[in-house]
Amino acid sequence: MEETKSRFKRICVFCGSSSGKKASYQEAAVELGKELVERRIDLVYGGGSVGLMGLVSQAVHDGGRHVLGVIPRTLMPTVITGESVGEVRAVSDMHQRKAEMARQADAFIALPGGYGTLEELLEVITWAQLGIHRKPVGLLNVDGYYNSLLSFIDKAVDEGFISPTARRIILSAPTAKQLVRQLEEYVPECDEIASKLVWDEVDKLNFVPGSRVAT
Ligand code: AMP
Repeated sequence: MEETKSRFKRICVFCGSSSGKKASYQEAAVELGKELVERRIDLVYGGGSVGLMGLVSQAVHDGGRHVLGVIPRTLMPTVITGESVGEVRAVSDMHQRKAEMARQADAFIALPGGYGTLEELLEVITWAQLGIHRKPVGLLNVDGYYNSLLSFIDKAVDEGFISPTARRIILSAPTAKQLVRQLEEYVPECDEIASKLVWDEVDKLNFVPGSRVAT
């Protein structure tokens, strides 16, 4: 497989701890893993081998890239999360896990998933809206899985609850290749209020093109 260079060193993937009912969801998780490998991008994710989480991490590991799983100690028993591939980092709780995954990543991708995926996704979108980080966020909209969420967000824009600038934080594409290309081209914008805020987290989470995120 020919390798393509990327501006990202490591991408965080949020995804279902279930596999979903359609084979296309599972195929998309493997395809995303292979796309990261092709672009020489490492993975950070929630750890373990359950559901789509297992498929994407295995594909990245099999392709020879580094896999970092961040797991709260309570979820560490393999009866809960299954065996992890690559490096496992134990953290004390779910909040620390999200902060650590965000700190370690240069961009975020959500595959199909449930509450956990949505919660992780919406948090990094909210952080981008507030200027806590400037890293790209993308939805891998497999078989239109996220169409209704995107429609809802467009309604929130129409109704005046989300600004058009904040709407543009969310990128989406039906395939991993298209989505990663969009993430590569993303140029962050900031609402006026967000640009005036100063966060302690900014130094830790901000993406500076061409450089590694501080660890
Ligand atoms: P869900 O979309 O509800 O299946 O939750 C998936 C997200 O929540 C993942 O990105 C993980 O960070 C976290 N998560 C939920 N369940 C588990 C589990 N059994 N093992 C590890 N992480 C999990």
